[in-house]
Amino acid sequence: MKLKVVRNKFLNFYKKKKHIIMPHINLKLNENKLMFVNSGMIQFKKFFLGRKSKYKRICNVQPCFRVSGKHNDFEKIGYTNIHHTLFEMLGNWSFRNYFKYDALFWTWELLINKFKINEKKIWITIHENDFETYNIWRKIGISNKRIIKKKNIKKKFFLNENFWEISNNNGPCGTCSEIFYDMGKKYKLKNQRYVEICNNVFLQYKKKLYNNKYILNKLKYNYIDVGIGLERLTSILQNVNSNYKIDLFKKIINKISDKIKIKNINSLKIISDHIRSACFLISEKIYPSNNKHGYILRKIIRRAIREGYKSNIKNPFFYKISSILIKEMEDFYPFLKKNKNNIKNVIKKEEEKFFNIYKIGIRILNNELKKCSKKLDGKFAFKLYDTYGFPIELLEDICLKNKILIKKKEFFYEMNKQKNNFLNRN
Ligand code: ATP
Ligand code: MG
Ligand code: MG
Ligand code: MG
Repeated sequence: MKLKVVRNKFLNFYKKKKHIIMPHINLKLNENKLMFVNSGMIQFKKFFLGRKSKYKRICNVQPCFRVSGKHNDFEKIGYTNIHHTLFEMLGNWSFRNYFKYDALFWTWELLINKFKINEKKIWITIHENDFETYNIWRKIGISNKRIIKKKNIKKKFFLNENFWEISNNNGPCGTCSEIFYDMGKKYKLKNQRYVEICNNVFLQYKKKLYNNKYILNKLKYNYIDVGIGLERLTSILQNVNSNYKIDLFKKIINKISDKIKIKNINSLKIISDHIRSACFLISEKIYPSNNKHGYILRKIIRRAIREGYKSNIKNPFFYKISSILIKEMEDFYPFLKKNKNNIKNVIKKEEEKFFNIYKIGIRILNNELKKCSKKLDGKFAFKLYDTYGFPIELLEDICLKNKILIKKKEFFYEMNKQKNNFLNRN
């Protein structure tokens, strides 16, 4: 079953359960704390906080981006089979309407009856005090041994992994229940063997500070927030052991491997992941820069270039991959097609800029390396980074390859000195 089909089947399933299909929102946010949309509920937060929603049941597909703030998966990319910087979250919501019973029954119906996932591979986690959820899962037919009660580590009802809150202070909150898929005995590490596919959040309390202690009051209305990772679900339905082996990524990775000749598996994952994020961000008119959203985009593009460099690619290549990604995703996200040329140009320009810096920097670096023996002066490294804009990660890669040590203490000394100068001036 293709990813596209999974997406549509999900929407149709909840449409039949009388949900309104809501369009997704842009990734870019201008909130103080959150730069990007990191889950489907972001556009509905206002309803949890008290505003009345016109619709009682909503479902949608929301691109989510987790490279900053509380959820930051950037460093995981390339090293797990289940994380992306940008992924699609399938979501369904109830605003003052159905609650735990229907939410769990429908999630189960969707996964087991509709998508025909083998129920023997499913494991459930619940909050240890959430007997109501436990009983519903039992009624659905899950055996006791497959329901893991997450221990309340901090011995306060709300400070727990299976307890979800909108903010740490006074917001709405409630228990949640996650669904995991068992990838099989051959995976020795727990977090590789059990893949989280879904999270059901039950908002039914409001947390309040009372006499220096937090207490939970029942909310007047209940809310449901369910999120499923589309790529993870698709990988299970396509019977592959990695998000990067589903139809969408297989096509992109084949292209990178055949045309660009990158073979390292971690690099392939990183590049195929990052091209998707770059295309979405640029479509929203975010451009590479040195701060905020633009900086995150620059970080994404530069990481991809760095992976190319590891395979000896020293010319712009990343922009070439955008067309295949766009072709694969434009049906559901037509703005990608509309922005096709712009996306290509922006990435190409950023790559060219990088390689110019690289060429100048590498010449200066080579001269210095002739002088030094196995230890690179920290002051020099800082100048290369600060004056010429040579990325420090790349310098580290080159030095590592040539068994040269960077005198980091000196480097950071110079960096602090400059920071202090700057602060004194302002
Ligand atoms: P994990 O523990 O695997 O990092 P999570 O608990 O952070 O996931 P949630 O915030 O509960 O994830 O989001 C709901 C669902 O979205 C998850 O169950 C998972 O299927 C999917 N998901 C979360 N993060 C990612 C990611 N970085 N890439 C792909 N899918 C993701
Ligand atoms: Mg996570
Ligand atoms: Mg989790
Ligand atoms: Mg979760």
